[in-house]
Amino acid sequence: MKRDEIQSRLSELLRGRNGYDELAAFSSWLAVALLLVNLFARQAWLSALVLAILAYALFRMASARVAARRKENEQFLELLGPARPWLRDPRAALAEARQYKHVLCPNCHKRLRVPRGKGKIRVSCPQCHQKFETKS
Ligand SMILES: [Zn+2]
Repeated sequence: MKRDEIQSRLSELLRGRNGYDELAAFSSWLAVALLLVNLFARQAWLSALVLAILAYALFRMASARVAARRKENEQFLELLGPARPWLRDPRAALAEARQYKHVLCPNCHKRLRVPRGKGKIRVSCPQCHQKFETKS
């Protein structure tokens, strides 16, 4: 089966369903991490927890109450804050972290993204127009 065919069959299956969102992704990865821990810990309660978390992830993906699931996912993303891009697309987040760093404006404390490896640079805050120097 070709990749496109698999994707179209999968989207057919998930039509009208919540599908794979960030909270489902987080739950799945958490279950995998706990499963690996349990390879050494070998605890029955941990196995039960892994199954419960996996069941929750599947429930999220198969749920037809999309509005309710979307709301839960948004609350989860808000809770996540700056870790959010790392969960959504770790590869893109890593590339971003290599190319840019974040500095706070000394005046209004807005988070600004500046390129890395350019030495000392002069930054102009887009919010309060304060100019300041920072290492990049
Ligand atoms: Zn500012």
